[in-house]
Amino acid sequence: MKTAISDLEPQKLWENFESICNIPHPSKHEEKIIEFVKSIGESSGLETTVDKVGNVIIRKPATTGYEALKVTTLQSHLDMVPQKNSGIDHDFTKDPIKPYIDGEWITAENTTLGADNGIGVATILSILQSNEIEHGPLEALFTIDEETGMTGAFNLEPGILNGEILLNLDSEDEGELYIGCAGGVSTHAAFHFETADLHDGYNCYQLHLCGFKGGHSGVDIHLERGNSNIEMARILFELINKFDAEVISFNGGDLRNAIPREAKSLIAIPESHEKEFINEIMLLEQRLKNELAVNAKGINLKFKQIDCEKPAIAKLIIKTVLRAIISCPNGVLRRNIEIPEVVELSSNLGIINTFDDKIEIHTLQRGSIDTLRELAAEQVRHVFELAGAQVSHSGEYPGWSPNPHSPILEKMKNIYLNMYGEEAKVRVIHAGLECGIIHAGHQKMDMISFGPTIRFPHSPDEKVHIASVRKFWDYTLEVLKNIPNQ
Ligand SMILES: [Zn+2]
Repeated sequence: MKTAISDLEPQKLWENFESICNIPHPSKHEEKIIEFVKSIGESSGLETTVDKVGNVIIRKPATTGYEALKVTTLQSHLDMVPQKNSGIDHDFTKDPIKPYIDGEWITAENTTLGADNGIGVATILSILQSNEIEHGPLEALFTIDEETGMTGAFNLEPGILNGEILLNLDSEDEGELYIGCAGGVSTHAAFHFETADLHDGYNCYQLHLCGFKGGHSGVDIHLERGNSNIEMARILFELINKFDAEVISFNGGDLRNAIPREAKSLIAIPESHEKEFINEIMLLEQRLKNELAVNAKGINLKFKQIDCEKPAIAKLIIKTVLRAIISCPNGVLRRNIEIPEVVELSSNLGIINTFDDKIEIHTLQRGSIDTLRELAAEQVRHVFELAGAQVSHSGEYPGWSPNPHSPILEKMKNIYLNMYGEEAKVRVIHAGLECGIIHAGHQKMDMISFGPTIRFPHSPDEKVHIASVRKFWDYTLEVLKNIPNQ
């Protein structure tokens, strides 16, 4: 007979997780799950408040003998990323998620599972409901909208939390303790241009540069997978210099926070240079493959002659735009001096779009030290401003600067070693976590982020490792018993 999820241990946690799967809770539609969490707090006789944006805070007194421990905040986010397989009929605002056991894992039928961060929410609820678990004074914080703007964390009233320690349960590798994250800021540049009609004797081509591996612009930025936008800019600049090419349009990438995988451009080349042009395209493709080495598999610079009536971007302007793109700080800009595998500062030139009279460029800078992130944003700004663009910044959020000497980190490392006979790995993530934002409003809080093992979050392949949930649960309870005294 097949095992049911409700037969798994710890039973209460899985029961809560199944309930969460039954309640639609995509980002921006958290009303029902807020109600669910609130009703558990109230029916357990605990102080329960919902703030003006929908974050839920529930406070639970210490169990007998643990009254002297520091107040600990347990935190998870209520929303999930709604992704489904193509061709599937699923309304995330109405239909339940259908989880099932697949070997050692739990996954969902054709949709994201929402283990990110449903397991965290289920864990905290199980602790709040229990009469047996031993712990000091607790404060549970359930935030809304982590996945599409962190507006819950942003709108949390500064100083509203009493916790001296915050345990964020939103990490995805059991056995890893996160002690820092990066903040971010977007920098946009706009170049306005004049156009000029193409001269006679020019043929138009569409260039398509594709096959880059892409990835998350934070956590994958150190993998040197190449940036299709910058590579296309280099190619266009060469073609202008060698063949007096005209550029009609240049588009690439579609998200600021993804490393761009492809770029397209419409160009025109004097007919007399056609042969050398075709030869040059092959050489440029080869140059790129040579530079990308192991990441070159699949890289392709395609070209195709087409009819085009559009005018070209004025030569002087497009050359300046391309120079700025090529010179824009991009990729890893600095690593941590003490932990060299940790990227501390980066930039990603994510999107280039050509409109009738302007080219827009969107970049994203990330940094775990806020002032360094500001410096990177300034550098990008200066490059584009020197080239004559209008530049603006938006969407700034703070980082959480790692403290390798954090007392709760020391404690949690020891507990892990005692329980499992191996060292927990200490990590800093080069991406945003709510910890950064919460920390900005509660600077004295000592924080750690950890969680069970989740694979392929934010995709319909999302799955959570069953045994890791058990380990994570046992570990969390042990940590709660061993929180230092006030
Ligand atoms: Zn999450």
